[in-house]
Amino acid sequence: MDPLRIQVHPSDNVAIVVNPEGLPTGTTFADGLRLVEHIPQSHKVALKRFAAGEPIVRYGQIIGQANREIPQGSWIREDTLELPMAPALDQLALATAVPHHHPSLEGYTFDGYRNADGSVGTKNILGITTTVQCVAPTVDYAVRRIKAELLPRFTNVDDVVSITHTYGCGVAIDAPGATIPIRTLGHISHHANFGASPLVVSLGCEKLQPARMLPGENLQRLTNKLPILNDDPYVVRLQDEDLRGFGEIISAIMRYAEKRLVELNRRQRTSCPASELNVGLQCGGSDAFSGVTCNPAVGYASDLLVRAGASVMFSEVTEVRDAVHLLTPRCSSENVARDLIREMRWYDEYLARGGADRSANPTPGNKRGGLSNVVEKALGSVAKAGTSAIAHVASHGDKVTAKGLTFAATPASDFICGTQQLASMNMHVFTTGEGTPYGLALVPVIKVSSRTALAERWRDLIDLDAGRIATGHATIESVGWELFHLLLDVASGRKKTWADHWGLHNALAPFNPGPVT
Ligand code: CA
Repeated sequence: MDPLRIQVHPSDNVAIVVNPEGLPTGTTFADGLRLVEHIPQSHKVALKRFAAGEPIVRYGQIIGQANREIPQGSWIREDTLELPMAPALDQLALATAVPHHHPSLEGYTFDGYRNADGSVGTKNILGITTTVQCVAPTVDYAVRRIKAELLPRFTNVDDVVSITHTYGCGVAIDAPGATIPIRTLGHISHHANFGASPLVVSLGCEKLQPARMLPGENLQRLTNKLPILNDDPYVVRLQDEDLRGFGEIISAIMRYAEKRLVELNRRQRTSCPASELNVGLQCGGSDAFSGVTCNPAVGYASDLLVRAGASVMFSEVTEVRDAVHLLTPRCSSENVARDLIREMRWYDEYLARGGADRSANPTPGNKRGGLSNVVEKALGSVAKAGTSAIAHVASHGDKVTAKGLTFAATPASDFICGTQQLASMNMHVFTTGEGTPYGLALVPVIKVSSRTALAERWRDLIDLDAGRIATGHATIESVGWELFHLLLDVASGRKKTWADHWGLHNALAPFNPGPVT
């Protein structure tokens, strides 16, 4: 392979090395650029000589200032550039460059499960939710029994999933931030892939009482004696005096499980327009290719989904913060732009309360992958959001039902972001450069790699290789279309993600910004 580098924007004064083994000292590119030191794959090469203090530009944006003189052909690393200030939140352009609507895409469908509330599922799952972590092993035990003794009779049901978590008690339940995990868990309990009202397993004495998690619901008590009459949510309360011992607790859960399995087994996939997809976008283990290959391809697919009338969410506040000046002009109105700024400000203050700032974001793996700082990471991350107008902004814990592109505020943590997006999404797209076997039980997770080397090494974990874009074997558009079709196939149950093939399902991690007691 000849020496290959990628410059994203004409004004960039750095490029990234494409060759998988990196390039040795003395390598000369076709245009005469000569490397003065070894540069690993996906790391940056100086296209010019930098004087100390000169801006280093990638994606057409300043990612930092040289903190020393840097000769042309040098390796630009984290320690050779200074982190610039984050864009000031009170000086941003609001809705000044709203993209025109792209022509709508008609005729794309998938086979999903239509629910009575209008939502559409992509899987057929019996879900059992919990109010508090004390009951998690009990529910997990019940789920093992249900899977072994009941599920084999209901071949149309995909899975039985316990919605267990580490929230619910020992927390300041009235603190301002407590509504975030509570709303998240409430929305997840009503997930489209569960088909109908949930079974809630509660301990009894916990702070997060069932009525608080599912406000406005007519919650029915479930014991071994009372009949199961309707489709309202049922609560098994372990401390209920009618439940004598573990055996009766488990049999109450299994009684409800059998009734629901009969109903779920009757669900049929029907043809639904692509507009019924609600796709959560996320990245994890990003590298310097992410912003060149997988994220722009996902952005292209995001635009296709928006054109098809679907809901698309991008998230991860700390990976948007340093690119927010590129996003507020794209908001569909000044109010939407102000909502976006509100979410940035909330997170700035949250980090400050914890004694941290945005420099806490990039991981050692991100840096090994060539990302020098959070600015460079953010510029690559927001490529997932494509080029559509940002039509809505959702706060932490909100359920997103609006069509079009939404910024749904979440932390960047893979598991917390995924958990919050689960309040809304029926499909998940996850891009990665370093690689992670991440998966979720509730929705299919399509993993897209930034580099071909990763897709080849992990051919039974990565669902789509966007690294072909870097080597010229595919384009952003072609991979974007591949992802769009793959989303429709997986949502229809025609194809399975590797995470589902292996049953790799990460635990839920609700975001609790409030104090623990
Ligand atoms: Ca993430």
